[in-house]
Amino acid sequence: VIEIRDLHKSYGDLEVLRGVDLTAPRGHVVSLIGSSGSGKSTLLRCCNLLENSQEGTIRFEGEPVQWQGSGLNRHPSDRHQVMRIRTNLSMVFQQFNLWSHMTILQNVMEAPLTVLKQPRAEVEARARALLDKVGIGDKADAFPAMLSGGQQQRAAIARALCMEPRALLFDEPTSALDPELEQEVVKVIKQLADEGRTMLLVTHDMRLAADVSDHVVFLHQGRIEEEGPPETLFGAPRTERLRQFLRATE
Ligand code: ATP
Ligand code: MG
Repeated sequence: VIEIRDLHKSYGDLEVLRGVDLTAPRGHVVSLIGSSGSGKSTLLRCCNLLENSQEGTIRFEGEPVQWQGSGLNRHPSDRHQVMRIRTNLSMVFQQFNLWSHMTILQNVMEAPLTVLKQPRAEVEARARALLDKVGIGDKADAFPAMLSGGQQQRAAIARALCMEPRALLFDEPTSALDPELEQEVVKVIKQLADEGRTMLLVTHDMRLAADVSDHVVFLHQGRIEEEGPPETLFGAPRTERLRQFLRATE
């Protein structure tokens, strides 16, 4: 579904991505691990057109995900494409990013109503079912501030799912949470993996990566240093850098 070829991205003189190749086939979970600053978030943001890359290609189901122009005139090649890509590749952020003035149900319904212009009754039924699925059906009418971090993140996942995306992008979905709240979010992510959803998952939780991934990619300074199935990557790391990284995260 997602195909990244030779992706380069710099901020001024800082080369953040230095030629990344990555494929996330349909139904697979690909996890990205690596130290802080290695470019994990940048890579996800490029997939979603939140960032533009300078070189290389990203394709989503064969369609190029691209910006055009240069400097301040750089822009996604067309507005509809951005909408299509963001609808199909729903992103879940570390900080949930729920709208604080809306109830949980309104948060989940907002984008399908305003972006996809789907009928309210249909969206509401789907939103309520998704809130049940992530275990917070009873919080539909609460405001985000009334929920725990774990509940807020599950609401954010329900919101992403309500767009009926073809793939999900997770950027450290559990790292803002206390360990005991982390588990309830981990459970939801595992459930989504079991359903065969296509996911690109950035995580600092090696156990989660080992449990849910079909493929794990270790990024180091903007390059893929090592990749493979989780058993190999975690069980028999080949490079010293990965061994060092894994020791540090234990
Ligand atoms: P973390 O684990 O801390 O989230 P990361 O692997 O997600 O790290 P990125 O957020 O992709 O790392 O950042 C990679 C590098 O790019 C960092 O050195 C960061 O400071 C730099 N960077 C990220 N966003 C910007 C920006 N908007 N402007 C300038 N530099 C940036
Ligand atoms: Mg990051």
